[in-house]
Amino acid sequence: MAKRPNKKKVLTQAADDNLCADCDACCKYVSVEIDKPTTKTELEDVKFYLYHKGVSVYIDFDHSWNILYESRCDKLDQNGSCTIYEERPPLCKDFDREDCHEKELDDSHKVSFYAPEDLMRYIKKARPVFYKKHYPSHRKNHRAKA
Ligand code: SF4
Ligand code: SF4
Repeated sequence: MAKRPNKKKVLTQAADDNLCADCDACCKYVSVEIDKPTTKTELEDVKFYLYHKGVSVYIDFDHSWNILYESRCDKLDQNGSCTIYEERPPLCKDFDREDCHEKELDDSHKVSFYAPEDLMRYIKKARPVFYKKHYPSHRKNHRAKA
């Protein structure tokens, strides 16, 4: 689960009361912070992650890089309830609903990559010098198609 507060939407009391009704999305993934890729090898490692089904990478609101695995928790029952609620792990207990990504409670700028192409488009735009230095063949290919 990720962290970081930023710009929050203000919920009405009714919307807040019902926020998690019929939703168990935050029990269906695991995310872990990774190092921001600063070399071509590290960037290629992130591309490798993205070759795998159910794996995505995102830049969080605090600019940290994170890998996300879509995986349903074994302790979630078919009704969407936690079967170990009283003994659930600290990560679950400490999760702040106001950080809920599923319901887009803030409008900050998280960037998600679901495929290597998403990542490379982002790198090309955000780090053009790095991209030109390490991926010159991509530029030639683009020119060849133009
Ligand atoms: S915090 Fe968000 S993702 Fe988790 S159950 Fe509530 S609405 Fe769903
Ligand atoms: S332990 Fe319970 S609260 Fe935590 S992810 Fe699993 S089902 Fe959800």
